[in-house]
Amino acid sequence: MTLKLAVVGGGVSGLAAAHRALELGRAAGRPVAVSLFEARARLGGAVGTERRDGYLVEMGADMFVTDKPWALSLCERLGLGGRLVGANAAYRRSLVLRAGKPLPVPEGFMLMAPARLGRVLASPILSLRGKLRILCEPFVPARHDDDDESLGAFARRRLGKEALERLVEPLVAGIYTGDPEHLSLRATLPRFLAMEREHGSLWRGQRRALGRGRAEEGASGARYGLFVSFPDGMAELLDALETRLRAGGVALELGTSVLGLERTAAGFALTRRRPARPRPGRAAWTEPPPSDGETVRELFDAVVVALPAPRGAALLAAASPALAAALGSIEHASSAIVVSGYRRADVRHPLDAFGLVVPAAEGRQIFSVSFASRKFPGRAPEGHVLLRSFVGGLRHGELLRRSDEALCALVRRELAALLGVGGRPDFELVARHERAMPQYDVGHLGRVAAIERLLAAEPALAVATNALHGVGVPDCVHAGERAAEHVWARATAPS
Ligand SMILES: Cc1cc2nc3c(=O)[nH]c(=O)nc-3n(C[C@H](O)[C@H](O)[C@H](O)COP(=O)(O)OP(=O)(O)OC[C@H]3O[C@@H](n4cnc5c(N)ncnc54)[C@H](O)[C@@H]3O)c2cc1C
Repeated sequence: MTLKLAVVGGGVSGLAAAHRALELGRAAGRPVAVSLFEARARLGGAVGTERRDGYLVEMGADMFVTDKPWALSLCERLGLGGRLVGANAAYRRSLVLRAGKPLPVPEGFMLMAPARLGRVLASPILSLRGKLRILCEPFVPARHDDDDESLGAFARRRLGKEALERLVEPLVAGIYTGDPEHLSLRATLPRFLAMEREHGSLWRGQRRALGRGRAEEGASGARYGLFVSFPDGMAELLDALETRLRAGGVALELGTSVLGLERTAAGFALTRRRPARPRPGRAAWTEPPPSDGETVRELFDAVVVALPAPRGAALLAAASPALAAALGSIEHASSAIVVSGYRRADVRHPLDAFGLVVPAAEGRQIFSVSFASRKFPGRAPEGHVLLRSFVGGLRHGELLRRSDEALCALVRRELAALLGVGGRPDFELVARHERAMPQYDVGHLGRVAAIERLLAAEPALAVATNALHGVGVPDCVHAGERAAEHVWARATAPS
């Protein structure tokens, strides 16, 4: 019998779920009828690439890491393995703002692990007192209890308050748009906990990683050697998935908001709103107004809810109040990226890094700027540069109430002050990501375990979201694939 599966949400998680369902059906020689419902007129969710005046603009994620295998494996199955490009080796370092000036993060300092104490001593980022405190790191006794320590508490304990405020906080905020005092170390960056356990010190752990070739000589900030994208941007992954899904007969229903989910004797009834008119172009980034279109109710054997947790919680409120409450308890941050293109001659700073992170202590209105045209080739025309400035996050969520024009003006002022950017930008685009970044706060792993217990008891329902086991693109691919495998296993189990 054909399995009738609905996937709600057409971001990376939903696309990976639909793709895996096709693979499973094909491998088992059993038909599967997949419908994917996406509220916007475009697929990709927080991932999307646009072309503007010769620039290639990433509106959300601009790369993925290769040490988590799931996105890489998907690319290979889609025939994209040969299209992957690594991040430019010439600029694999970060800058951090200190007293209004961009300074290089000391060579070998990776998020919170210093490999070269000499470089930390030579850097003007920390005061003498801050440097002396970091020198003590190898002698700070390791903790071996099972407490869920916050990332901030861990960094303060091992490296001192100043290193936390001046290096760790801005580097981590650049990834999670969150507050290290609330984020759980175990749930976000467990490798540093493992370093402390295994080597007794972050410095020793990072030195060993260098010795074993697991860390990169000369780099600083993040593990840039693991970053990959495509010559034509992340859209290559979305396009390949869309082509594969259409070829496999998946019904891709764009501009279609799912409004409700009810249990039935044999599965779920899904209510959705089909829009009256398709909305092409930039409007594809926004959802159609809820009043648009006709309402349709349809029965499915199984459902994968592939939405950000707050949206998933709202959809599941009637079908599973306990699951909805648990998903709804995970806090999310909102942010916006203002992407702007400039003539190289209009930027005083050499942009000799992948980007600039800004500590909260600096009191600025942006929390990071990515020098996008330094990371991957083909992002800006010759003689021009592409900058992506991040606004909002937990630190300044209120700024997102401002209009696009006001956000662009704010970013122009910040870029002028911090990087000497003058002249008129070739273009500016604002990408808003409302409640898109889950906060893995202290206690997160307990919340995830409770959600997993509830989901284990659901044979025909699965959740694929960045709010549980990882926020990155590879994590979302994994979440989508696991969700498809869950409903498939239950649907095909002998009764
Ligand atoms: C600004 C930003 C930058 C990032 N940068 C990186 C990066 O460089 N590298 C990396 O690995 N990760 C990055 N991430 C993380 C990663 O991109 C996201 O975690 C991932 O793309 C989320 O995918 P998703 O499918 O789970 O959710 P989403 O992408 O949010 O997709 C959910 C989809 O569901 C749709 N939807 C919502 N409600 C409904 C409904 N009722 N009915 C139908 N459809 C609905 C939405 O329109 C959306 O398309 C970044 C995230 C953000 C926000």
